[in-house]
Amino acid sequence: MADATKHFERITIIGAGLIGSSIARAVVRADAETTLVLADGHEKTLAEAETLKLADAYYVDVKRAVQDADLIIMAVPVGAMAGVAEKMAPSLKAGAIVSDVGSVKESVVNTVSPFIPSGVHLIPGHPVAGTEQSGPAAGFASLFDDRWCILTPPKGVDEYALKTLEYFWQALGSRVEIMDAAHHDLVLAITSHVPHLIAYNIVGTANDMEEVTQSEVIKYSAGGFRDFTRIAASDPTMWRDVFLNNKDAVLEMLGRFSEDLTALQRAIRWGDGDTLFNLFTRTRDIRRRIIDAGQDDPVADFGRTHQD
Ligand code: NAP
Repeated sequence: MADATKHFERITIIGAGLIGSSIARAVVRADAETTLVLADGHEKTLAEAETLKLADAYYVDVKRAVQDADLIIMAVPVGAMAGVAEKMAPSLKAGAIVSDVGSVKESVVNTVSPFIPSGVHLIPGHPVAGTEQSGPAAGFASLFDDRWCILTPPKGVDEYALKTLEYFWQALGSRVEIMDAAHHDLVLAITSHVPHLIAYNIVGTANDMEEVTQSEVIKYSAGGFRDFTRIAASDPTMWRDVFLNNKDAVLEMLGRFSEDLTALQRAIRWGDGDTLFNLFTRTRDIRRRIIDAGQDDPVADFGRTHQD
């Protein structure tokens, strides 16, 4: 593990939240000798990171934070990436790699690349791992273990820089996949963005109902609702930016989703049990395949503890 991060003597992470602080912890786990710098827009967040001893140095000023860094990872909300790139650009070292962890990739390529000086390698990335928590205390070193990290290098990328970044994520425990940015956005629209929108929507609808009281919604949430509330508790800034920046792919997937939902509505109306049964059998199989692929635990009820 250690060899892989040794390509980078100095790593700067901008954004000390869930993902940034998890990367910091995973870097220390992989190679304690790398000099790690953390930057964040807020003194309070940085002070929290410092109390947790997440890095070797802490800066609010991103220009100072990126000086002499071999690898810079932007771990801020997607809508903040371009502003960060513009601020840090004059201080980037020639030969450095600039990457990010944003959940949308095409907009990052389009808005960040104009600020990246020649001689600096921009290789966007997205670790497909996370929780509904935010902030420096929420991170943990094993977050990326056995999860996929998707890199979306631009055409003509420096192959050595790409390999080095690939090794870096492997050292953090990830599996790495290379993908075109537009394809990434389409895949993530259906596997992540639309599911979040559905969760936000169903929790919002339950909250606005008049015939069913809020205390009833909470009291009987174990019927399924509470599993949606985990996703719907995700960071509002992060998710607002995801939908604003992956508009086309999300709308495309939502269109398909609405058509399928209408078909289900029709099956219920006409008492078409076969259609319902066949779909529910196929969806159950998807859950089994996710577990077989090591992307979730087979423990029943998401591992909640139950008294015998
Ligand atoms: P988070 O816990 O809210 O952390 C984001 C951090 O960025 C916060 O500490 C925030 O500071 C800081 N920040 C915001 N704007 C900034 C700016 N202009 N300059 C410097 N720092 C700034 O969010 P997160 O979950 O780590 O998400 C970070 C990125 O990872 C997002 O792009 C998201 O799409 C991506 N991602 C998230 C997940 C997930 O499950 N959460 C998974 C994969 C990828 P303050 O809070 O002090 O404002």
